[in-house]
Amino acid sequence: MSTSCDLLLTNAIVLTLDEAFTTYNPGIVAITQENIIAVGPATLAAEYVPRETVDCGGKVVMPGLVNAHTHVPMTLLRGLADDLRLDVWLLGYMLPVEREFVNPDFVRLGTSLACAEMIRSGITCFADMYYYEEAVAEATAAAGMRALCGQTVLKFPSPDAASYEDSLAATRDFISRWKSHPLIVPAPAPHAPYTCTPDILQACAALAAEFDVPLHTHLSETLFEVENSRREHGMPVIPWVKKQNLFEAKVLAAHCVHVDEGEIRALKNFKAGVSHNPTSNLKLASGVAPVARMLELGVNVGIGTDGPSSNNDLDMFEEVRLAAILAKGTTGDPTVLPAPQTLAMATRIGARALHLGHLTGSLEPGKRADLILIDLSPLHNSPSFTRDPNSIYAQIVYAAKSTDVTDVLCHGKWLMRNRNLLTVDEKNLLLAARDYAKRIDHFLIQREGSVLQKLVAIGGAVEQESFEVQAKAQLTSPETVFKALQSDVLTVIRSVHYHEFDTYFSFDDPAQGRVRYREDEYLNDKGQVTNARARLTLMGEEREGEFGSVLLSRSRYIAPATHSLRFYREYFKPAAEHEVEKDRRRWLVAYKGVEFFVNLDKLIQPASAGFYLEIKSRTWSRRDAKDKAAIISELLAVLGASPDKAIKADYVELAGGS
Ligand SMILES: [Zn+2]
Repeated sequence: MSTSCDLLLTNAIVLTLDEAFTTYNPGIVAITQENIIAVGPATLAAEYVPRETVDCGGKVVMPGLVNAHTHVPMTLLRGLADDLRLDVWLLGYMLPVEREFVNPDFVRLGTSLACAEMIRSGITCFADMYYYEEAVAEATAAAGMRALCGQTVLKFPSPDAASYEDSLAATRDFISRWKSHPLIVPAPAPHAPYTCTPDILQACAALAAEFDVPLHTHLSETLFEVENSRREHGMPVIPWVKKQNLFEAKVLAAHCVHVDEGEIRALKNFKAGVSHNPTSNLKLASGVAPVARMLELGVNVGIGTDGPSSNNDLDMFEEVRLAAILAKGTTGDPTVLPAPQTLAMATRIGARALHLGHLTGSLEPGKRADLILIDLSPLHNSPSFTRDPNSIYAQIVYAAKSTDVTDVLCHGKWLMRNRNLLTVDEKNLLLAARDYAKRIDHFLIQREGSVLQKLVAIGGAVEQESFEVQAKAQLTSPETVFKALQSDVLTVIRSVHYHEFDTYFSFDDPAQGRVRYREDEYLNDKGQVTNARARLTLMGEEREGEFGSVLLSRSRYIAPATHSLRFYREYFKPAAEHEVEKDRRRWLVAYKGVEFFVNLDKLIQPASAGFYLEIKSRTWSRRDAKDKAAIISELLAVLGASPDKAIKADYVELAGGS
């Protein structure tokens, strides 16, 4: 009694990667339409009447690899900015370029390129997260690959949505239209806890639960993220997202680098899948995930390349090898993540992490025919031993390269035969990619040439051009100032006391101006810090004019400093940097009907014995500036400083800068 089938693969070393790691050598795989109907020893071939037989010539047949976390359209941004910290890389380069260039055309092209690269490296299924995810889904389906397509949701405007409400509505629409697609599983992808609000996390989880689709996100990638979560929410990331009901959905969490034992158990209990992305975590210096422990406790941990601009490739062979080696090196135990288990992470366990284990990840009857052929005959793979049944896994994990993959079948259709791609036009895609690279290069070269444009690119900068007239004088004692302020010559409107830390960045071209990063710590009567704030100002060319002892200066662009000083330093790459630290008492006073700020500064850095008195006022015209300059000269004398002893140097110059 024989059964007909569409395709019979014979003369192969079949690695099923099932629970028991069953292998058949030689073995066969029988396929009808998109499904595997039988896997077994060579003798089983007699039971099938195939429409087509493919003699595998002794190659390995195994499940297609599952790339558990990536951002495929970013192939077009590969190599754009490297060797940077995560925040500088992401906020300084990726997000501004994405805001400018990402549209459905970009996404489709980037995805097609990624599919070509992934098929070549034996991947048949991947979990993605990006903008315009529907374009990712279309290009992926056209290439014949399987994917979990996560539509990004963020708390700020993104290339494909003006607000998160828009983004959630688009995600719902995308999921409802693609839900029954044979290759694509649509999903909401709230980017990360720190880029989403509790509302977004809750809404995404509810949406995923409603349509019974997975939810794709980034969790606990850096120590910084975890420390912030502890500080802001009083708990690490996993319990906090649990409070937002995230685990009501079938979660696929990328990274999980910094999770403790309790969090690992929670991930296991909530049946969350994890994607381990060793290259990305090493390249961005995020750390090493406790993968061996996660697996030991039963978490489904897959392996992912992450996006091609933080890796910089989509090569799962490299990723699998690194995962195995890294776990050994960091635990000091060469027996952890043995080759069979690591290869299972890249196939069966990875598919489960994506919540697609019922469809793919192993060669078993009833699953989809997603498989690859690997040629183990090249020099770097020779010779082969048979004594240890696991040596074939070691060969694939430690010695094989993605170029050894010769044929790829997905959903019962050939995507590559003898290393020829059948569903993607590699040549034309490369030409189009080159075109994008030219345009992006041009955009960044223009931006890099201007400190102002760089400041605007990271967002939040407001053009607030202001002109000020100001005079400065040194005092040996502040007594004359206090006395004058108490007299009725002037009226004190309000006063404040703070500690000010200024860092000035200057550039080779002085016309670019200077960037000042300023941190104020407000002090109460007892000298205790009650509040702090930081901001960033781009100061124009210092002197617009002089009126005797009074200077006219200009500042442009002011922005709340939402990042660290270190971030701005690495982002702006100043030619020189100067620090000024002072204890400042500041009064807003009215004198002769005009309001002035009076600053009494005690310089701490650069250290100085005396006090500095500064008088400033906003001005709108040269004429107004001239009038105010005259009053400032008088006011200097009233406060005990002689106008002819006024200092024209600013604090940067006092600190040794020019
Ligand atoms: Zn990622």
